[in-house]
Amino acid sequence: MRVLTATNTKFAVRSAGNLDIPGWNAVGSDGVIVALEKLDKKVLSADKKYATIGTGQQWRSVYKWIEDFDVQIIGNREPQVGVGGFLLGGIITEFEVMTSNIVDINYEVSLYAPNSTRAILKAYVDFLHEVEGGTGDASIQLEMTPDHTLVFYGHVGHVSSAPEFAPFRSIPVMTPFIPPTNGTVAQLLFAAEGSSGQGPNGASPGSYYGTSVAQKVPDANLTLEAYNEYLAAASILEPGMRLVFSPQGFTSGLVRSGRARNGGNVMGLFEGPQFWHDVYVTFPDVNQYALAQKAVDQWTTAVTKKAKNEGVLLPYIYANNANAHSKVLSSYGKKNFDFIKKTAKKYDPNGIMQTLQNDGFLIRKEA
Ligand SMILES: Cc1cc2nc3c(=O)[nH]c(=O)nc-3n(C[C@H](O)[C@H](O)[C@H](O)COP(=O)(O)OP(=O)(O)OC[C@H]3O[C@@H](n4cnc5c(N)ncnc54)[C@H](O)[C@@H]3O)c2cc1C
Repeated sequence: MRVLTATNTKFAVRSAGNLDIPGWNAVGSDGVIVALEKLDKKVLSADKKYATIGTGQQWRSVYKWIEDFDVQIIGNREPQVGVGGFLLGGIITEFEVMTSNIVDINYEVSLYAPNSTRAILKAYVDFLHEVEGGTGDASIQLEMTPDHTLVFYGHVGHVSSAPEFAPFRSIPVMTPFIPPTNGTVAQLLFAAEGSSGQGPNGASPGSYYGTSVAQKVPDANLTLEAYNEYLAAASILEPGMRLVFSPQGFTSGLVRSGRARNGGNVMGLFEGPQFWHDVYVTFPDVNQYALAQKAVDQWTTAVTKKAKNEGVLLPYIYANNANAHSKVLSSYGKKNFDFIKKTAKKYDPNGIMQTLQNDGFLIRKEA
């Protein structure tokens, strides 16, 4: 960093390189990429409670390594994603509903027919409210494309039939993707790898454009409207392009435990049941970028408007799902953004990270 500063050289930082916003982990020929892939340390403490892991590697290598120690590390759901970018961006795992320590995990993954999707969304909202008052030991994640809905259920600790998943049991299943298993995080993630369409087979430069919109979840109304808007946006795409709708549930328990542990949260998170919608298009041809953006923007505008009208919009934008135009830092609220600016000034008084860093969610772009 000293050399880059002295020579006034532009730079970009890269861990595993999965962020697909052009210029954020790369720089033109007049700059330097700080590539961190060799920072691949993996050390487990003697009591097996803490792991020290290097920023530059993929979660794949962490999951493979940790299995031999009979403990779990919860990282990204797609093994190809990097440790550094994922952790810095906010950390939505397959297991986000939980607040307790993880001992072992039960899981099921099912494919549902598209005509069951509304029932699944309603059941998901019920589930989110259910875990507010319960142990918080169960987790649901789902992703849908016009072809199918992929539902993942996870439960901490072995149970023969988890009561939390009852609302889903009456919905017909198209295919059990993975049968109920008492297994490890790694087994699940390797089995489901690539199922979201962002996996290794779908990855190519410029093949992704997504967004993040957050909402409170008093009932299933807006979620079902957001799904209708998703179908409308998907209908403008060309063959080969795929729009994915993934309402990621987040509970007040997580916000509360974050506050208790850290004395607050700089992202201004709301304490209550909420969805952070992750909506993205994958596409084979970079020339389809504008159409992908159009579909995602169409969905964002419609859902933001409806959420505002219904009084359930949350300003929060989730960094790991955001796009090049998202104003992530100011979405945390003025007080928090001011705190971020003050902190940046303290550690980077000359604003090198803001001026020489090629691109990113930078203060200078939002101030
Ligand atoms: C297939 C797929 C699935 C995904 N699923 C999820 C998911 O379930 N949940 C979720 O939260 N996110 C998910 N993401 C988003 C992913 O977490 C982010 O794109 C993340 O930034 C990727 O991290 P990386 O290290 O691979 O990327 P990189 O491109 O290397 O880094 C991402 C950003 O972080 C910066 N950065 C990385 N390391 C450092 C460092 N050590 N110091 C300073 N800056 C650094 C880079 O400059 C860049 O701007 C997914 C992405 C993909 C491609």
